[in-house]
Amino acid sequence: MLEEYRREYADFNTRQMREYYLFLSGQKTGLELTQIYERYSDLFTREVIEQFQQLRQETPAHFETNYASINHLLVFATDQYMENTAKTLTEEISQYEAAAKIEWQGQEIPLQGAFVAIKAERNRAARQAIYKKRAALTEDANDLRAERLMKLHTAAQALGHKSYTTLYEELRNQDYEELSRQLQNFLEKTEAVYITRMDEALRRDLNLKIEDAERVDALYFANLIGFDRHFPADQLLRVYAETMQGLGIAIEKQENVEVDSAERPRKSPRAFCAPIRIPEEVKLVIRPVGGQSDYQAMLHEAGHAQHYGWAAADLRPEFKYTGDYALTETYAFLFNHLPFDSAWLTEMLDFRNHTDFVRSVMVSRLMAIRRYAAKFIYECELHSGNSLTNAAERYAELQTDATKFKTGESEFLFDLDDAFYSSSYLRAWAFEVALREYLKTKFDRYWWRSKRAGDFLKEIWHTGDRYNADEMAAQIGLGKIGFDLLIDEFNQKLK
Ligand SMILES: [Zn+2]
Repeated sequence: MLEEYRREYADFNTRQMREYYLFLSGQKTGLELTQIYERYSDLFTREVIEQFQQLRQETPAHFETNYASINHLLVFATDQYMENTAKTLTEEISQYEAAAKIEWQGQEIPLQGAFVAIKAERNRAARQAIYKKRAALTEDANDLRAERLMKLHTAAQALGHKSYTTLYEELRNQDYEELSRQLQNFLEKTEAVYITRMDEALRRDLNLKIEDAERVDALYFANLIGFDRHFPADQLLRVYAETMQGLGIAIEKQENVEVDSAERPRKSPRAFCAPIRIPEEVKLVIRPVGGQSDYQAMLHEAGHAQHYGWAAADLRPEFKYTGDYALTETYAFLFNHLPFDSAWLTEMLDFRNHTDFVRSVMVSRLMAIRRYAAKFIYECELHSGNSLTNAAERYAELQTDATKFKTGESEFLFDLDDAFYSSSYLRAWAFEVALREYLKTKFDRYWWRSKRAGDFLKEIWHTGDRYNADEMAAQIGLGKIGFDLLIDEFNQKLK
């Protein structure tokens, strides 16, 4: 069964990823996934899931590779099974969102565009007005989202699990209660420095005190548009090439990792990576607009692209296309973090007077991590029970407590990722500091200039998605992934 399954599985992933790539890069008007799902629906039935569970039980754990293989395939089948059960509602919601428009100053802006408008709107009253209209539209689809959520919960129980939470804990071999405790501790230990520095930054950039700040101000603040002139659009590709050159990666010779920078009207404004065939065909799609957030997004996606681009061709397909997202996100954050590096800013962008920028971008990063910590804690609560009573209030309360930006209830079902993706980001943020410190100690304080650091990265990227983030951290010798280094980093750099 396995050989044929693997072939079909690899085809499914490639076709699905190619469809996303063509759609998001503006080469295709509609995203047509239904056909692909129908064609490959045999890959993720309940029977298949049961067969993999059975197979896993029968495989002795000391046959590590075979055991990991079955586990990866089980993760894939379960993820897709869950997605498939909710598919009609997912489509209904996305159709609603694609059609929803708000009226603003005589113009119609789509829902997604409202976000972009808020991020660039200097006038606070205008920001608030757009946000209010957007919130009303979000609320209109909450019934559909609630229905979808209940469907997912029922599906998790139908697979024999107590709750949606326990399904993913078991599947991903994680202890979410323990992670929640660690995050609670992270929130406590970074609270004082966060409040002081965020208040300072808000007074300077927005003429606002932290006790008056709202979620809409956070969206605008995080964009840090005051520094955009230091990050010109026309230098983005050069900076990518030179950064990789420092690690001994000549991107112009790297035929399998293609930078798609073509200008197309419907192209997604946000950079993304599409690993269509790993490692033979990986796309790094960018539409340079400049600004620090554009640079961060591009470097982040470059981390994903290099990870998949250096995966060994002879890995089993399940070690290429299915893995622990925390692992690939760790590599993405490693590059994502370069604009926080004083020497890198000077060398790559000749940005010398960067003290204020580094502080602001650090505060903004701390806000993002605190926001995700609250998001994860909320998701655990939401997915452990079976009712939505108090969920909206809980969401608002947890988000407001963590970020200090007053957050309303309207996004309590919108601001959710499936399958605890938030936990992958959080574990990746924690792993990334440890990996970065390791590269600095072992190779060079300026690790991004070291060919030896590059060789090391290529070596670990070679294993693709074979290991989860915890296993990889242990193999490098970093021990268990924890949040202490991250807590220290914020307390030192923002003190
Ligand atoms: Zn990512």
